Amino acid sequence: MILVVERVRLSIGTAIEFGLETGTSDPYFTTAFLMTYRDSKCESNCAFCPQARDSSSVSDRLSRISWPDYDIDKVIGAWPQRSQFRRICIQTLCYASVVEDVVDIVRRLREVAQLPISVAIHPVDKDDLNRMRGAGVTNIGIALDASTPSLFEEIKGKRRATPYRWDRHVNALREALEVFGRGKVTTHLIIGLGETEKEAADVIQMMYGMGIGVGLFAFTSVRGTSLESSEPPSLSSYRRIQVVRHLTSKGVLRSKEIGTDDNGRLTIDIEHKSMLSALSSGEAFQVTGCEGCNRPYYNERPRGPMYNYPRPLNRKEVLAAIKETQLV
Ligand code: SF4
Repeated sequence: MILVVERVRLSIGTAIEFGLETGTSDPYFTTAFLMTYRDSKCESNCAFCPQARDSSSVSDRLSRISWPDYDIDKVIGAWPQRSQFRRICIQTLCYASVVEDVVDIVRRLREVAQLPISVAIHPVDKDDLNRMRGAGVTNIGIALDASTPSLFEEIKGKRRATPYRWDRHVNALREALEVFGRGKVTTHLIIGLGETEKEAADVIQMMYGMGIGVGLFAFTSVRGTSLESSEPPSLSSYRRIQVVRHLTSKGVLRSKEIGTDDNGRLTIDIEHKSMLSALSSGEAFQVTGCEGCNRPYYNERPRGPMYNYPRPLNRKEVLAAIKETQLV
């Protein structure tokens, strides 16, 4: 039986850019965000997620963004002929036919767009990875979210009664690398789930060592989730982890140069002058993930604090962000 996707969700910002909703258009919006649609929630149960099986959040939420659903023909018909989009990103829920749905959505998208297409998905087998690649998917993201195996079990795995396991996610990232190649596979970490700064730094180093890119989110509580009463990370702590991610991604930070002070705060043992020069562009504090992705206000409230800037920072913002790191 061939399944044909009838409905799909768009992030509210994407729907505005498509003219499907009214609202203020964002000049920095560079990625069209879609999400697979189903009547019920995700079959998995991540503690932070409004789509999780046990969450009582409304089902059109992911992070703090709303995702209205549309007939897929309407979305394809509304695809802007000229736009600032540089990438398409498809978020998926966990359910049995999700790969079929992704392949079908990508087939429809390829009628109107030749942009790179990223898919954020749970571990699937290699045949499914190859099918998605064959359909036109260019990048894969498999989110670890948690920075350590034990935190993973608590937030996404065993303790949440799901089949997700740390080792399986890490192996899936390795397999995705074999299918999609270096530079095309990413993971995401949510900072503020209970990890130490050093644990976050260690997993960032581990991922880049494997050839996997890392995108960072600051934990944002969403009503109706198991973590609805938890607090976001401190901005200063997040800034230090952004610095580690940035310097690691540029290949200028080695594990032996990362330490902690008596308060568990990260320290970086490289010359202040080199660090300042590496941070002066402000890139370290912008949204991270696939190339061309900026996820405006995914985990930021427009009034701040601005954990991840969706655009280049001005000079004042760069200086403030560097100061917030308390590293120099
Ligand atoms: S797998 Fe994704 S959509 Fe499902 S509960 Fe986890 S984070 Fe949410």
